[in-house]
Amino acid sequence: MKKERGLLIVLSGPSGVGKGTVCGALRKQDTDILYSVSATTRTPREGEIDGVNYFFKTREQFEEMIKHDQLLEWAEYVGNFYGTPVDYVEKTLSEGNDIILEIEVQGALKVREKFAEGVFIFLMPPSLAELRNRIVGRGTETEDLINNRMTVAKDEIEMMSKYDYVVENDEVHLAVERIKAIVTAEHCRKDRL
Ligand code: 5GP
Repeated sequence: MKKERGLLIVLSGPSGVGKGTVCGALRKQDTDILYSVSATTRTPREGEIDGVNYFFKTREQFEEMIKHDQLLEWAEYVGNFYGTPVDYVEKTLSEGNDIILEIEVQGALKVREKFAEGVFIFLMPPSLAELRNRIVGRGTETEDLINNRMTVAKDEIEMMSKYDYVVENDEVHLAVERIKAIVTAEHCRKDRL
């Protein structure tokens, strides 16, 4: 049963919780969900590809996108800009397809103001100690950046109550199953039929 408009799914939560890994695993599962590629001013990490992981932009290019209303939301996060290109999201939803946005908390709350009907999922680390281990384990950040990310993460966890669902990322395959169950349930909601 195809809906007139797709579901806007927002997967958010503190940096390092594993949003990227969970989204990647979901992507491999051949669901019908499409993925939004964000724009960022951060420099690419090894192996990241422009247009696949992010659209990598200069600060000037990013500011132009803001000026021309090309972003559904944007946020400054640990010194870099991140934002969701609006056109692809609108096109996907209007064609009746579901789309998932993997974004940090400030941006998710901005999306909520525009899309109250969206499905907002907070990905939760098993503990703060585990979150720190995951950020350190990634091996891409300096000590100062790790501390900044942890400070932001503690504030972000307090925002959990503003979401529709909280999914613990204890194991990636379990988190993926929980998210798929949420999407299925949302499709069956009688107010969406
Ligand atoms: P990273 O630098 O680790 O790729 O991303 C840092 C944070 O920015 C992560 O929490 C990630 O989910 C978030 N992020 C990625 N794209 C966007 C976006 O388009 N908008 C917002 N608000 N956050 C984003």
